[in-house]
Amino acid sequence: MDDLYDKKIKCPVCDMQFSSKRVRRSKLRIEKRDSDLFTYYKGENPVKYGVYVCPMCGYAATEEKYSKVNDEERSVIREKVTTKWKEREFSGVRSVDESIICYKLALYCGEVLSFKKLYLGNICLRLAWLFRIKNDDDNEKKFLDFALKLFDEAYMQESIAGSSLDEITLTYLLAELNRRLGNRDKAISWFSQVVSHPMIDTKPNIKKLAREQWNLVRQR
Ligand SMILES: [Zn+2]
Repeated sequence: MDDLYDKKIKCPVCDMQFSSKRVRRSKLRIEKRDSDLFTYYKGENPVKYGVYVCPMCGYAATEEKYSKVNDEERSVIREKVTTKWKEREFSGVRSVDESIICYKLALYCGEVLSFKKLYLGNICLRLAWLFRIKNDDDNEKKFLDFALKLFDEAYMQESIAGSSLDEITLTYLLAELNRRLGNRDKAISWFSQVVSHPMIDTKPNIKKLAREQWNLVRQR
């Protein structure tokens, strides 16, 4: 397990110092990628460690978001999360089931803090991927469906500037998640939006994937 190292983190809610495992970038070897962008690696998958959970107060969020908590959010976490929290650590090597618990905690924290739909959708998509690793089709579908609804709302209502998902990739995911969930007409309409996007040539991988998946759904 020397693919992993311990990252020290300070909880922005309760100031507790704790550590969380990370996969060394130098150890990442891509094995394959699914059409909804889930990447498989030889060895540990970094998606399993994408959420930090404070063992003391229960605050959980993704790495990018973790330290960005204001005073009001801090008191919401204390009131709605910490009061129900029983001390529990996720600092070691995580099983897929433990990773699922971490993402569900992050989803709950993100909901009580009214974080953006795009952020919550990304968490649901990762939950779907974790259930895919377990071959749990029912839960995979359930979370793909949550992700799709949240991405749909994000696309309609939110500015995605400065987020980790760009507009082309988000549009592509809307198409592909609709395809996976059997919404053929919606998938076709979103795929056509992806390939006709004025900036599509800046994303050659997405362009190629979108054409492949678009053909696949039209053939059915
Ligand atoms: Zn804490």
